[in-house]
Amino acid sequence: MTCADCMTLDGQTCVVTGASRGIGRAIAEEFGEYGANVVVNYRSSEAKAHEAAEYIEDETPGAATVVQADVCDREAVESMHESTTEAFGPADVLVNNAGLTVDRTFANMSREDWDRVIEVNLGGVYNCTHAFFDDIVDADCGRLINISSVVGQQGNYGQANYATTKSGLFGFTRTIALELARTGSTANCVAPGFVETDMLDDVSEEVQAKIVERIPLDRFAEVEDISGIVRFVAGPASSYMTGQVLAVNGGMEW
Ligand code: NAP
Repeated sequence: MTCADCMTLDGQTCVVTGASRGIGRAIAEEFGEYGANVVVNYRSSEAKAHEAAEYIEDETPGAATVVQADVCDREAVESMHESTTEAFGPADVLVNNAGLTVDRTFANMSREDWDRVIEVNLGGVYNCTHAFFDDIVDADCGRLINISSVVGQQGNYGQANYATTKSGLFGFTRTIALELARTGSTANCVAPGFVETDMLDDVSEEVQAKIVERIPLDRFAEVEDISGIVRFVAGPASSYMTGQVLAVNGGMEW
């Protein structure tokens, strides 16, 4: 195998949830750049999802299809699985990226605020992993990649709900890694630090400045800092790595 073979995702079917914006979009586009057939999932940002797919189709060796599905909706996710199979055949790679925040101090956090974040960030992971699990089992080197967060490792003021979901992914990933191991497929977590996306825009400038003080590399991540690592985990060069949490956080302690 040459080095180039280790890098390619040529002909692999890669499903990325929440690929209309931010980190998910960068992952989808980078998968296309490495030759993958990419399923660009979105919930509400239809135009942006189509922009990502057009980039993959027009500017990369990959191919793309756009599938609308709220990851909380099991029927919609099952239907996304059917659309994936029709477009590209069974999935080789699933990236559970879709996620959101509803930030409040715990004293002000309603049960609805709690449930909303659990429903998307963990319920969505259940629905998507369940729908694509047999594909990943049957794939030659299937990959389940869960996008967690440094917040799952450190906790974060005002994010009890979000931190719970992101650390929950560690136990989920390690368990699925054990259950997949006999098949040769892997499950890993990528835990980004703070990344320049719409999600970070929700954080006040004052709090952002305090966060940067805690980052040894002295800057927030660009989406490409994360997508490159996810592409490595998706590819053949990572085949002996499973059940791991890859911290991509500019050197923050955890
Ligand atoms: P973002 O810019 O807010 O984008 C979120 C993406 O998730 C959008 O494409 C959105 O789709 C999609 N999404 C949200 N709810 C969904 C649902 N119910 N069903 C399907 N798609 C849904 O977020 P981001 O910063 O890129 O974050 C992506 C992932 O990285 C999340 O899991 C987040 O927790 C994690 N992360 C982010 C950071 C950070 O600092 N930004 C740090 C660590 C980890 P629509 O727009 O179509 O609704």
